[in-house]
Amino acid sequence: MPETLKQKLKVSKQDPLLITGPCSAESFEQLHETAKRLKTQDVCHLFRAGLWKPRTSPNAFKGIGAQGLDWLIHIEKTLNIKTCTEVVLPSHVHDCLRAGIQFFWIGTRTTVNPFLIDLLADTFRGVKDIHILIKNPIHPDLNVWLAAAERFYKKGIENISFIHRGFAQYPVHTYRYDPIFQLVETFKKIIPECELIFDPSHIAGELHKIKSLVKIAQSMGIYDGYMIESHYNPLEALSDKNQQILPSNIKDLFV
Ligand code: PEP
Ligand code: MN
Repeated sequence: MPETLKQKLKVSKQDPLLITGPCSAESFEQLHETAKRLKTQDVCHLFRAGLWKPRTSPNAFKGIGAQGLDWLIHIEKTLNIKTCTEVVLPSHVHDCLRAGIQFFWIGTRTTVNPFLIDLLADTFRGVKDIHILIKNPIHPDLNVWLAAAERFYKKGIENISFIHRGFAQYPVHTYRYDPIFQLVETFKKIIPECELIFDPSHIAGELHKIKSLVKIAQSMGIYDGYMIESHYNPLEALSDKNQQILPSNIKDLFV
């Protein structure tokens, strides 16, 4: 039987699952300070931080890479919070599994690529006790999102959840990425049993738009949890600095 993230992390049915942490792992201090504050605020069931960052510009910060794995494991051991990171290539998966990471997300630019998804599914094949979160494809195509899950499923990887992070649009309107809520409602109708996580950070692109998105998501009643980017010093963040929230402000999003 597939296990949900909530079951695995022992989050009760009525509480929203909170996946929080910075966009990117930048330094041991940044990661640890952010995680400590999230823990103090009691707003982190699963800590997130990207080690390998798919960036638009070749000149942007590409992530700290495998060096950050020790930092994530240190957080798991000292703060007793499980961690997750994005994997794009089989080598990322090998590095993570060697370090003992059990939770992974597939980024929006990876979900669209059947060759990469097949390679990742092959790499995870037979590995026990892991959970994969699949972000929606960057373009609004439900079949691509479903097919990515099917590719994992066919290789025996059944612990899968989904992240709604919005869709690319031109020209850009209210949000950096268009949420297209009706498309995700349809997705939920197709697989009603799926565990669905809402990522207002990447949809909004700007901090002040996150709370109203959370309100919409709450009113829809289809989401099991939230992935929210958080940084102890957002203004200094090396990626997605406009959308990261201070750990001490997360609770306010839900009141
Ligand atoms: C992220 O979560 O920081 C990220 C890069 O995700 P996405 O694939 O949604 O852009
Ligand atoms: Mn980000």
